[in-house]
Amino acid sequence: MEQSKSERIGVTMTDVHEGGCFCGKVRYRTTGAPKRVSACACRWCQKRTGSALGVSVYFDQKDVVFTQGVLKPFGVISDAGRWIESEFCSTCGTTVSWTLEFLPGHRGIAGGTFDEPTFWYDLERFVFARSKPDWLTLPEGIEICQAMPG
Ligand SMILES: [Zn+2]
Ligand SMILES: [Zn+2]
Repeated sequence: MEQSKSERIGVTMTDVHEGGCFCGKVRYRTTGAPKRVSACACRWCQKRTGSALGVSVYFDQKDVVFTQGVLKPFGVISDAGRWIESEFCSTCGTTVSWTLEFLPGHRGIAGGTFDEPTFWYDLERFVFARSKPDWLTLPEGIEICQAMPG
């Protein structure tokens, strides 16, 4: 069986990573390698981050544990008519995590919220490239989709 990219870069099933929101009240712990890592320049990611793109690190739901703090949910319906529910710190407003109708059993973690080394994972794909800013150059060697794949 072909090894996943995460296994090749040395992330094992038992690796633990922690992170949290800007004010520190919300904390989480992830176990093992992410199932999927994407950068996304859709309008939802741009609005929720206030930035040019979102970085989504998806785990099996069971591999993410919230250890501290109060998360407030905010739900929206995507252009494709499917629900997205983000969860943010009720104190500082950092969006820390989300779940998506089209990825059942998975939980997304906002890629910039991990403790250092923050970017311990590799980027696998870039989605919604059509709405990225012109000044953002995409990296080589990753999958690029103009909109949502599949
Ligand atoms: Zn906070
Ligand atoms: Zn997005």
